[in-house]
Amino acid sequence: MTKHIIRELEHIEHLANRYADIELTTLANIKHKSQSFPVYALHVGTQDPNAPTLFLTGSIHGVERIGSQIILAFLENLLKRTAWDVYLNDRLSRMNIVSIPVINPWGVHLKTRSNGNGVDLMRNAPIQANNPKYQLYAGHAFSNKLPWFRGNPNQMEDELIAVSNFILERSKNARSSIVLDLHSGFGSRDRLWFPFAHSSQPPDNLHEYYLLYRLFRKSYPQYELYQFEPQWHQYTTHGDFWDWMYQQHFAQSSTHFLPITLELGSWLWVKKNPWQLMRFSELFHPTKPHRVKRVQRRHNPLLNYLIQVLDNDLFPKIDNEKELTEKALKLWYP
Ligand SMILES: [Zn+2]
Repeated sequence: MTKHIIRELEHIEHLANRYADIELTTLANIKHKSQSFPVYALHVGTQDPNAPTLFLTGSIHGVERIGSQIILAFLENLLKRTAWDVYLNDRLSRMNIVSIPVINPWGVHLKTRSNGNGVDLMRNAPIQANNPKYQLYAGHAFSNKLPWFRGNPNQMEDELIAVSNFILERSKNARSSIVLDLHSGFGSRDRLWFPFAHSSQPPDNLHEYYLLYRLFRKSYPQYELYQFEPQWHQYTTHGDFWDWMYQQHFAQSSTHFLPITLELGSWLWVKKNPWQLMRFSELFHPTKPHRVKRVQRRHNPLLNYLIQVLDNDLFPKIDNEKELTEKALKLWYP
């Protein structure tokens, strides 16, 4: 039979072959029918397990490939700069950048949101929303022929088991970690969501999310791209993987841990190219090369900002937790 090819996986292999500074690990091989695709992780930076770590993850939904492409373009630029930029190399000697650009390779290959088993990997974790207005998109157990199928939350899908083991093993030692998980398809503007999706309770480290939000607004006032908010402000779901990861991390560790979802607003692209509405898989992905480049460029400042925050060890240094919490409660939980 013909061997299937996924462009983003080839790009990962290319980076690993081309640059000595990047390390490739295969977290799992995901079988479907008679073939399998790898879930790859890439690591740049120090070998110190306690160093602050930025995790970048993408394509947990197979139709949202633009996230993988943003991560890979960002890494490639970074690796090119390590040849001459002493400041960058200095920074990378103090921190880790770990990415899993394609969590759901079968979804990418089959052009589906779900994985090869028809399971939505963002509804599959063993976590139950406490105020579900019943909607199909909140996650359901009816059929894997419908979108948002939860699968079996008590036996998570192989992709999620591999990714969670890998990230939690590292996050428990890293002084501070931020996870940026890239998605596309919701609404008309770019959003940054923090936990929770299953509950309207604030997370215990709300003050750290507020610091991240406020510092970005103050330091980069020209970037008014992002609506920064807890995910339940938009919708509540069952089985949210990052809510579950948040709980798992703090069950085993007290190091700083901030998972964030970057949701790229796809309707922006549709407005400029209404034909995308005709093809579901393209709805979540800008198709014209210049547009892909523009989307990649838009998010570079955010990625660099997260690196700066981690390298400056800002979370361990917070000395006004109470003030930050009060402001955050006023803004997001009135
Ligand atoms: Zn998504």
